[in-house]
Amino acid sequence: MPADRVLSGVTREENLDGVPDSSLWQKIARFFGAKGADSVEQAIIEASEEGELLKEEGSMLLSVLHLDDMQVQDIMTPRTDVICAPIESTIGEIIELIISSGHSRIPIFKKNRDNIVGLIYAKDILRAAMDADLRAESPEPLMQTPFFVPETKNVLDLLHDFKSTKKHLAIILDEYGGTAGIVTIEDVLEQIVGDIEDEHDAPREEDIVCLDDGSLRLSGRAYLEDLAEQTGITIESDDVDTIGGYLCHVAGRVPQAGETFEAADMVFTVLEADATQVRHIKAVPLAVENTVKVQAAEGTEGSVVSGAASGPASGGAGAA
Ligand code: ADP
Repeated sequence: MPADRVLSGVTREENLDGVPDSSLWQKIARFFGAKGADSVEQAIIEASEEGELLKEEGSMLLSVLHLDDMQVQDIMTPRTDVICAPIESTIGEIIELIISSGHSRIPIFKKNRDNIVGLIYAKDILRAAMDADLRAESPEPLMQTPFFVPETKNVLDLLHDFKSTKKHLAIILDEYGGTAGIVTIEDVLEQIVGDIEDEHDAPREEDIVCLDDGSLRLSGRAYLEDLAEQTGITIESDDVDTIGGYLCHVAGRVPQAGETFEAADMVFTVLEADATQVRHIKAVPLAVENTVKVQAAEGTEGSVVSGAASGPASGGAGAA
């Protein structure tokens, strides 16, 4: 079912009326008239369970309802991952950036990336690419005005803004006016239909990978919420959303490869980090980790986990 139809189907009464003989739509219309979103959600769940809706359709409809609970900061591409260019760049340099990054819109900043002053679209720069003389010129005349939104903006409202402004990329601002990240219409649609990979996307690395030996390989970006949902490992924090952020928060700095932390009966070992973020982490159940240590101390063979036993946990993190 196209996302458009999902969106308009649940929000416009005339469409509900227009769908003949569908008890689902009757249910939803009835619930919409009488009750709040919880009841609509219940109707969708019931319809899925009763087979009136395909599982995929039900989950898309539920996702549409949940757009209203999400803020743009929950779905943005964070500032550190945004491919942007200083205003001093030449047209030729921007073209190279578009080619190397695969992104068709490049934010342009003055002085630093907290000060985005424009956007260059691949389509607009194509003509300049044909003219060798223009490649050394400034991209400024080709720049489009950026569309700024605060990071707390509701995702459903952003979708309406994308429609009304016809701009499909928003620069997300933090509360101090700095750049928090970007969101495109694709990021919003992915919340409804799941990951969308276009022809040029490299396969995306999974944030949480369960390995055969019972350990986990995590990206620093893995959300604590997803970790709890997918693995039952519950780490709660009011301060951070991701496991990488959590380890930084506990350490009070960016921990480096080899450093270990205990939390939620697991030992988390940083596998890869740079100056600004933890990139990859291995997580091993504490019991397994302790067994490995005892075996090592007793000189027995049979390392259960490779590469994770790195001495006593240095972080000593309990669930925050
Ligand atoms: P594109 O095809 O130009 O990458 P999309 O709207 O299809 O644009 O976005 C695909 C993903 O790439 C989204 O997650 C979006 O946030 C991200 N993205 C788009 N432009 C950039 C950019 N300049 N730098 C980093 N990420 C970007």
